[in-house]
Amino acid sequence: MIFAAATNNAKKLKEIKRILNALGHDAKTLKELGIEIEIEENGTTFAENAVIKAKTIATICKMPTISDDSGLEVDFLNGAPGVYTARYAGENATDDENIDKLLDALKDVPQEDRGAAFVSSVCLYVPVENGEDISVVCTGRCPGWIGWERIGDGGFGYDPIFMVGDVSYSEMSAEEKDAISHRGQALRLLGEEIAKMMF
Ligand code: IMP
Repeated sequence: MIFAAATNNAKKLKEIKRILNALGHDAKTLKELGIEIEIEENGTTFAENAVIKAKTIATICKMPTISDDSGLEVDFLNGAPGVYTARYAGENATDDENIDKLLDALKDVPQEDRGAAFVSSVCLYVPVENGEDISVVCTGRCPGWIGWERIGDGGFGYDPIFMVGDVSYSEMSAEEKDAISHRGQALRLLGEEIAKMMF
């Protein structure tokens, strides 16, 4: 099936498309759909934000839409930055500023207390004419820990400091990351739900 992908983040979009392709689906970008929009993410959970994004785009383009809301839960910070991961170092913070702030927050924290998880909630929102819209949310979680410094040069966002075992997300190939990542897990669960649905 072809879905609209409710994200303006080019690198996240690339992963969503890649994972959906592996499941036999595809996604149209907001650009391809001629939609220019900045969605306010004012939910308190990843799942709430995923629904807000997918519903907003599905309502505009009137096609089944998939969104992803994701972030880091750091044990030492009691689960922060969570839904604020993209804005950890400020409203328009760059990836580098966010990473620097997190490394600084954990600078004296020993290895055993650097546990963290990357979480992704994905939502499929299907607008239904003359009926009730369909909304399905699936969540994936990848446990790991926050590294001491940036390692590797692939990926995006916090990839260089998110460690799984002794390898960072950045060092993994696309296939390796998709196989274990929060987003890969969430989208594969969603794929199972899609397979059960009839459009
Ligand atoms: P969102 O766009 O509100 O979902 O924000 C997600 C935040 O988490 C952004 O700062 C992303 O860079 C970061 N993020 C989400 N997924 C990943 C990932 O797979 N690798 C690295 N950073 C990620």
